[in-house]
Order: sequence, then structure tokens, then C-alpha cells
Amino acid sequence: MKEIRSMTLPELTRTLEEDGEKKFRAKQIFAWLHARQAESFDEMSDLSLALRGKLKEHCELVTLEQAQVFVSALDGTRKYLFRLPDGHLIESVFMKYRHGNSVCVSSQAGCRMGCRFCASTLDGLARSLLPSEMLEQVYRIVRDTGEKISNVVIMGSGEPMDNYEHVLRFIRLLTDENGYHMSQRNITLSTCGIVPGIRKLSEEGLPVTLALSLHGSSDEERKQLMPVARKYPLQEVLAACDEYFEKTGRRISYEYSLVKGVNDSEDHARRLAALLKGKNCHVNLIPVNPIKERSYRSISRAEAAKFQLTLEKYGINATIRREMGRDIQGACGQLRRDYAGASLS
Ligand code: SAH
Repeated sequence: MKEIRSMTLPELTRTLEEDGEKKFRAKQIFAWLHARQAESFDEMSDLSLALRGKLKEHCELVTLEQAQVFVSALDGTRKYLFRLPDGHLIESVFMKYRHGNSVCVSSQAGCRMGCRFCASTLDGLARSLLPSEMLEQVYRIVRDTGEKISNVVIMGSGEPMDNYEHVLRFIRLLTDENGYHMSQRNITLSTCGIVPGIRKLSEEGLPVTLALSLHGSSDEERKQLMPVARKYPLQEVLAACDEYFEKTGRRISYEYSLVKGVNDSEDHARRLAALLKGKNCHVNLIPVNPIKERSYRSISRAEAAKFQLTLEKYGINATIRREMGRDIQGACGQLRRDYAGASLS
């Protein structure tokens, strides 16, 4: 059985040719799968019934089931809970920005990185997602909203560098000119700092934006919040990011979740500014979303603004992440957990 939505156009072409089909059929089917986000072979109305039958018999077509959607009355943000074919649940978020619509995609069900404030990692990793399962998050949302999606951020549950090959294939398929054809520049991949992954990505010749989860300006500070910091020292992580910038010309985005009393003081801001001094970068400040399983507290908008001002005083470009969909519960992985918990009881 071929899992057809994860196949590249050359792979699909080869498979069909081996089966005695004409080459142009592959392009037609690829367009149905990616440009038109087909949910079934029956939709492919310009293929003969015989070919549709053959595809049904020989290929697996992965689709996601929409288990739930929450729509914000404030800003149109939509949080989706999707069920994978084997029953695992994942979250994706649709956000409307002035520069276009954006989808936040999950790369794994659960996560094994163990960041202290993150809800996605509390139950560990269930499994990595297939390229088709990542594509389907975008495609189901395109179909559900009828809107064009111009940006994707791989910032949902999971660590993309822990599912490297599938994530790369997802990016290449999503940006294929015969498919959905999203611009590679409009894709952001966020990592907790897996050095070999960053290095490898810088060699791919892809102009995607790299976001690095920093959350502290020293190894000691990062270790408090992120177990992965024990494996990859900060200096190595930053060197890999510098290399990424040199090779791709893409400005790095550093994410810094602000946790009250842990990494939010004026001193922390100054140290962060010193660490990033001279780099062509951008800092994205995220007031932490408290999760009920941990006692971390968030900081106020005014406190975040003060932190931002200190960074800017030292010449570091920073913004505070706008909170989207405040009225629909479930920040960063909470939705899936609540739903899974509810369905168990
Ligand atoms: N594994 C990737 C993607 C994670 S989600 C990574 O670590 O970068 C994207 C960002 O949201 C990361 O910076 C992550 O640390 C942050 N994040 C996760 N849970 C959060 C929470 N409860 N509050 C604030 N930021 C959070």
C-alpha cells in the first residue's frame, strides 16, 4: 500500500508509469491531492472510474477527522482538534493576521523534549506525524474556512527536529508548484535547539525561517526550563543559528517565554541583549501560558512591555506575541489534553 499524499510528484510519476499509466496522470492526481485538497479518490472526477478503482485498491489516502473546532468571537482564531487515523489527537490553529492567514501545525502527537511549562510534553511522545498528516492539518483548514493560507508555523505540539525527514518532506510538498504552492519564505520551523538538526537544515537550500526557543540567556537558566539544554550547550546552539543565518540569509527568530520570577527581570533582559548583541535577529516574547499541572505564573502585559523596552534600549529588535483567541480555551497543547481527559472519564 502506498501512502499517496506523502509522495513527491516524481515518486508518484514513477509508480504510475510502472503501472502502465500515462505520465500526465501523476500531475493530475498530485493536483487533486495538494492543490485541491481532495478527501477521497471519488472526488477525482477527471480520472476514469477504472483508474480511481485501482488507486483505491493500491493506495492509502490519509485524511484527518475534525474532532472539534473552537472559534474565537474576538479575532476569528480557530482551534482545531484533529483525530489521526489511529485515534491520536493533535491540535492545529488558524489565525488571521494583517499580512495573511496563518496555520500553526503539529509535527508530533505529544513530545519527548520535556520543557517544563509546555502542556504537549506532559504525557510524553505518542508518535511522530507523517508528511500527509501535517499537510492535512493545512488542507482540512483550507477546506473548512474556504480561506487562503499564506503562512505556516511549525509550532504546534512536537519537536520538528525529532521528526526531521517527515517535516522536510512536508515543507517540500506544501511548497511544490504543482500543489498548494505556498512560499517557502512563509514557513517557520521552531526548535528547542537540537544542534545537528539546525546544521542539517542550513544545508537544505530552503529559505524557511528558523525560530529558536531560547527562554534563558545562560545554560543554567535554560536548564531550569528545558531538559534539552543539558544536551546542547547554548554556545553551540547559537553557533549553529549563526551558521544558519550565514548560509540562508534568513534572520533568526528567538523565542523567549516569560515566566514570572524565573526569567523576567530587568537583569535577565540585559543579559539576553548582551547574548544576542550584533546578531541580525528578532526576539519574540511570549508571556507564558500557565498550565494547571505546573505552578509557573505569567507576567502582565505591562511587565512584558518593560522587558521589551530594555531589549530595545540595547538595540535588540523585539515584539510581544499577540495573544490570539483569548476566549477559546486551550493554549499550547491544553485542548488535546482536556479533550482526551474528558473522553476517558
Ligand atoms: N518544539 C518546538 C515547538 C514548540 S511550540 C520548540 O521547542 O520550539 C512553540 C513555542 O511555544 C516554543 O518556543 C515553546 O517553548 C513555546 N511554548 C510552549 N508552551 C508554552 C506555554 N505554555 N507558554 C508559553 N510558551 C510556550
